[in-house]
Amino acid sequence: MEISKFQSLMKDLYYANDNRRGIYRTTLWLFEEMGELSHELKKNSVKMDKKAIAEEMADIYAWVASLANLLEIDLNKAILSKYPNKCIKCNHKPCQCQKDL
Ligand SMILES: [Zn+2]
Repeated sequence: MEISKFQSLMKDLYYANDNRRGIYRTTLWLFEEMGELSHELKKNSVKMDKKAIAEEMADIYAWVASLANLLEIDLNKAILSKYPNKCIKCNHKPCQCQKDL
């Protein structure tokens, strides 16, 4: 599914609730999901549950789409502008920037 279609789906499904909740509280939900992802990632590799991690990532993506809808931001356009087909700093693919990781 393309980013724009996903954002549109989130709008169809949740915009009314997102709008009632507002930007501030929707952002809190996003942070909560990020905390849940962090919780899953803190587990050692034996206990790590990739299905749970994937679900938390999907939740984060959904909350970002909700925020974008509330702010009338076209996520697809924003992502392609910010992350074109090459590194925006060194103009290479893959990136060849030398920086601290
Ligand atoms: Zn680079």
